[in-house]
Amino acid sequence: MAKVPELFGNMVFNDQTMQERLPKSTYKALKKTIQNGEPLDLSVANVVASAMKDWAVEKGCTHYTHWFQPMTGVTAEKHDSFISPSGDGQVIMEFSGKELVKGEPDASSFPSGGIRATFEARGYTTWDPTSYAFAKDGTLYIPTAFCSYTGEVLDKKTPLLRSMERISTEAVKILHLLGKTDVTRVTTTVGPEQEYFLIDKDLYDQREDLIYTGRTLFGAKAPKGQELDDHYFGAIKTRVSAYMRDLDEELWKLGILAKTKHNEVAPSQHELAPIFSTTNIATDHNELTMEVMKKTAEKHGLVCLLHEKPFAGVNGSGKHNNWSISTNKGENLLDPGKEPEKNTQFLIFLAAIVKAVHEYQDLLRITVASAGNDHRLGANEAPPAIISMYLGDDLGALVDAIINDKEYVSKGKVEMKTGVDVLPDFKKDNSDRNRTSPFAFTGNKFEFRALGSSLNIACPNYMLNTMVAEELSKFYDELKDAADIESAAKALIKKTFTEHQNIIFNGNNYAPEWVDEAEKRGLLNLKSLPDAMARFLDEKNVNLFVKNKICSSEELRARYEIELENYSKEINIEALTMIDMAKKKIIPAVSAYVREMTDTALAKKTLSDAIPTDVEEELVTSLSNKLVCFNKKTSELEDAVIKAAEYSDDGLAYAKYYRETVFAIMQELRAVGDSMETETASEYWPYPSYGEMLFSV
Ligand code: ADP
Ligand code: MG
Repeated sequence: MAKVPELFGNMVFNDQTMQERLPKSTYKALKKTIQNGEPLDLSVANVVASAMKDWAVEKGCTHYTHWFQPMTGVTAEKHDSFISPSGDGQVIMEFSGKELVKGEPDASSFPSGGIRATFEARGYTTWDPTSYAFAKDGTLYIPTAFCSYTGEVLDKKTPLLRSMERISTEAVKILHLLGKTDVTRVTTTVGPEQEYFLIDKDLYDQREDLIYTGRTLFGAKAPKGQELDDHYFGAIKTRVSAYMRDLDEELWKLGILAKTKHNEVAPSQHELAPIFSTTNIATDHNELTMEVMKKTAEKHGLVCLLHEKPFAGVNGSGKHNNWSISTNKGENLLDPGKEPEKNTQFLIFLAAIVKAVHEYQDLLRITVASAGNDHRLGANEAPPAIISMYLGDDLGALVDAIINDKEYVSKGKVEMKTGVDVLPDFKKDNSDRNRTSPFAFTGNKFEFRALGSSLNIACPNYMLNTMVAEELSKFYDELKDAADIESAAKALIKKTFTEHQNIIFNGNNYAPEWVDEAEKRGLLNLKSLPDAMARFLDEKNVNLFVKNKICSSEELRARYEIELENYSKEINIEALTMIDMAKKKIIPAVSAYVREMTDTALAKKTLSDAIPTDVEEELVTSLSNKLVCFNKKTSELEDAVIKAAEYSDDGLAYAKYYRETVFAIMQELRAVGDSMETETASEYWPYPSYGEMLFSV
């Protein structure tokens, strides 16, 4: 490996490259656009495009692509070569400012939630200069936003960029009120911790369920799972370690700040965390990270699974969205400082976040809902489906003191004595960790823990930014005419904490009592995607997005339809895959094994009546009975899938039907299948076992 500082970002058209390759005036104009969001002149774009192309060609690129994030949940790209005929039968490599700034992919096959008819096929991609272009696999990638010919937003990046503007505007207004007039811009920052599974490619290739759906639809538990907690932070195996090194190198080349890697709780489960960056870049980088994780695995004969629940019975995978807000002067607005009780600025922002999470708890739940994540939330491995906030002992006590007009004395940092001379003593952080909370304060940021591992983080972040922007704008209205800003702010902080304290919960979120307690507090417990989505278009939510100019109500409705449709489609594919596996492989396999046992019993009997055949007979009886049941459940599932068509006119009813009927039968079918697996000889069972998949790498 080349030295890391040389390697880092060498495939990125980053600030340093721009400075080296662009004329000074062009660089300055571009920088203005990046930092202040000012529109870019086409003449400037022409110069940038030409320099970008020369750089990309040196990196071995022959093509460029506008890279965007449609509503499919994965990124999209269409590659065009730089070639242009030069008139003499030759070609030259060309790339214009127009091509850099705007693309026109046919948008008709991307989900639009019925927003457009397919004959209005045109869509536009527009360059997002705030996220650097990069070279990958012989192509120059240009991060872009995606909208329809008529201007409707069809992607995840546009609302995110809009929400970042909104929160910046509102936060700056508050900061100016509080006297920080030198701040001109505020940025939300995110560091997403990414969990994933690695399994052997040969085993993966033998399982239709993993290939078609990303998770195992059948599979009896292995004798060992995660009960010994011996995988978490365990020594990393050679093959995995080689993969991780390779992955880091690929990510570093792309300018991604891959920082931490370790084994996770479940066998074969791992985690990668980057150093945080602006939300926009963190989003692009997380999308790239997931892609590079999968590609790098192939090179090592492995498959990287990003599904939220690839294996039943062991933990699934999530993504922790560490989120904070900082100013262009480098101040983290969520840093409580040494004396948080005197830090009005911090308390105002904290109060706005507490109020936002309380009032829009449904949106936070909705934004992490997916067919995959439905397996995790509430299953005592991930936060529960109930959204609440953890502030920690210190901050919790401070909020309590503010509400009750009590005096508060910060404990400050406590000295930790190791009791061993050679080990240094150190200061403890004042906030401990609560691993069970969905939205936890962790010292100088909030960690939103309910995200599924495959989720595009743009959605939770634009919701979070928008709801906090909304509360800040209301705060501004209440404070702007105050004669004494300090006391007005203090009164507002107290009022807000008092009215919204119900969202704060510092206890164990996995405890069954919490469910009752949360209900008493009036908190929502939305257990599945259909339950959650049913609230998406509530008036208060539509108003939030429309008022803040993030999405129109039509665009919101489109998003609602797309989410519901995706959910139904995913379960439909899972059901069809199960039926296929059942009929083509499992039933024939069990039947063949039953036949072998029958033949053995008969053969024994022809030899002598005295030879016992109890084992064979018991197995034949047991498996034959289960097979009848299995076959019946398979037919039931087939019928249920056919019947689904009756609900297809109404997205919500359709999704509910898939959840309550189709998915329920799938569970029953699986239970019988898994029980047959435990009685069938492994040479007959048509699929690699959980033990093989989870413990062979
Ligand atoms: P943990 O104890 O959860 O591992 P870390 O300090 O290692 O905490 O941070 C976890 C993630 O949070 C990392 O991706 C880190 O870059 C990110 N992070 C740290 N500070 C901030 C911040 N101010 N804004 C956003 N993310 C942050
Ligand atoms: Mg964490």
